[in-house]
Amino acid sequence: MTAEALHYSSFVFDAHCDTLGFAVQPGENRRDPLQWGQTMHLDLPRMRAGGICCQIFACFPGQSRLLSGPCSAALDRLEAFEDLRRRAGGELILVQTAEDLLALQPGGPIGGILGLEGAEALEGSLTRLHTFFRLGLRNLGLAWNGRNAACDGVEVGTQAGLTEFGRQVVAACNDLGIMLDVSHLNPAGAAEVLERSARPIIASHSNASALLDHPRNLTDAQIRAIAAAGGVIGATFASIFITPGGENATLTRFLDHVDHLVQMAGPQHVGLGSDFDGTDLPPELSGADKYPQVTDGLLARGYADEAIRGILGENFRRVFAQVLPRGGGQ
Ligand SMILES: [Zn+2]
Repeated sequence: MTAEALHYSSFVFDAHCDTLGFAVQPGENRRDPLQWGQTMHLDLPRMRAGGICCQIFACFPGQSRLLSGPCSAALDRLEAFEDLRRRAGGELILVQTAEDLLALQPGGPIGGILGLEGAEALEGSLTRLHTFFRLGLRNLGLAWNGRNAACDGVEVGTQAGLTEFGRQVVAACNDLGIMLDVSHLNPAGAAEVLERSARPIIASHSNASALLDHPRNLTDAQIRAIAAAGGVIGATFASIFITPGGENATLTRFLDHVDHLVQMAGPQHVGLGSDFDGTDLPPELSGADKYPQVTDGLLARGYADEAIRGILGENFRRVFAQVLPRGGGQ
C-alpha cells in the first residue's frame, strides 16, 4: 500500500487544537476556520486535505481570561464551534456519544469533540461541569499551567495532588462520560487522576521528557502508567516540546518522540495531538493539510501499517469509545 493510500484510508484523530481561539477574536482579528488559510494551521478545507476524521477542539479561555471570566470565555468558544458546525453544511459533526464517534469514516463528515483546557472555566462548580456536558463537553484538560480550584498545573511547582473539588470532578467525569486529560497537569495531580479514575485517561498533547526534559513532557514512568491503565498519549507537534526552546524542531525530531512513546507505551497507546493554532510547529507539520507527512515518516521508519493506523487515530478512537456515553446520538 502506498503512503497516500494508507493515510487516506486511516481514521485520523487529532487530540488538540486551539483554533476556536481565533474564531472569537473581535472585529478584524476574527478568523474563519471555514476558509482555507485564515488561521495559522487548521481549518475545515485543510483538515479535509490532511485526511483528519476527528478533531478535539479545545476551549482555552486565553491567558488573560483564566483569572477573569474563564467560564464566559469558554462558552464563547463553544458557541464559535456551534457557529462553525452550522455553517459547514453537514461537513462537521459534534461528537457526543460513542456511536457518533464510531459512525465517522475517512472521507465522511469530520467529527468535532469539544474540550476544555483548564478547569478554571468550571469556576469551582460541579453544576458548571454538568452544564458544559449538556453543551457537548467530552474532554476535560484539568489544568492549563497554573493553579485552579481542582488541581495545580505544571508551572506551579508544588507536589500537591487534586483538591477535594478536583476529586469530585474526576468522579463526575467518570459518571457522565467525559474523558480526563492530564496534559499540563503537575505529576502528583496526574498520578492521582490515574489512581482515582475508573476509566482510561489521556494526555492529549505531550511528548517524552526522556528526549526533552520539559515540565510539559511526560516521564517514562508516567507514559507507562497511562498505557497500563488503557489510556493514550498524544505526541504533539509543538516545537517547544520537541527540542530545547523549539530550536531546529523538525518532523524527524518529532518522530523521535513518537518512537520513544511507542517504546515505552506500546503502539496501541500512542496517538497525535498537534496543538494546531496554539504555538509554533516544525515547518513540515505547520498545517492540518500536512498530516500525511506523519504517515510518510512512520512508514520510512519501518512501522507496520496496523501500528500506523493505531497512532494516526484508531487508538484515540478506541479509548474515547470506551469513555463517551452510549446511545441516542444527537
Ligand atoms: Zn496546551
